[in-house]
Amino acid sequence: MLHAARSPAWLLVMLALVLAEWVWRRRVRGVGYDGRGALASLAVGAGHLLSGVLPALVLGGLFAAAARWAPVHWPVGDWRTWLAAFFAVELAYYVFHRASHEVRWLWTTHAVHHTPEEMTLLSSIRLGWTNLLSFGWVCYLPLVLAGFDPRLVFALLAFNLHYQFFLHTEAVGRLGPLEWVLTRHRITACTTGRMRRTWTATTVAC
Ligand SMILES: [Zn+2]
Repeated sequence: MLHAARSPAWLLVMLALVLAEWVWRRRVRGVGYDGRGALASLAVGAGHLLSGVLPALVLGGLFAAAARWAPVHWPVGDWRTWLAAFFAVELAYYVFHRASHEVRWLWTTHAVHHTPEEMTLLSSIRLGWTNLLSFGWVCYLPLVLAGFDPRLVFALLAFNLHYQFFLHTEAVGRLGPLEWVLTRHRITACTTGRMRRTWTATTVAC
């Protein structure tokens, strides 16, 4: 999400879609819009960005150092590297997300993301501030040790997080056959007591 903060075009797209969702919820669906929840998500998201500066520097250095231990280095200019890395990042995200729900230490950070009472686009930026301490990033270290360039891993992870913005809404219904390939956010707020979990970010491969 740090990347998103540096991209005015992406922020404009987010703003336009949030406004469209606000209109859809209030005028079309008639269910209202949790304005206070949206403000809370914005505040938590801003804190996530600020608290993510130091971890980004620390993890950037750590992953660069880890890359030196890799026995092979897959060429960044080869599309096959990107394809393999895409699915590798998907798998790592699956492990990260599943562990974030099942390991209490990780859940303390991830739980913040599941506090909204409405599934809205803005709820996607309600992210914890203690990612460095949670050690969830360990899930991505094997990718670097397997020879994938850290910059490539971070880029695909950024894509992964940007994509997930679109999953956090009730405005998009079922996707038909596309759901055989693409994941769909099925997690409702934890306060409902019943969760249908989707662990992956973009595909249903895992
Ligand atoms: Zn989750």
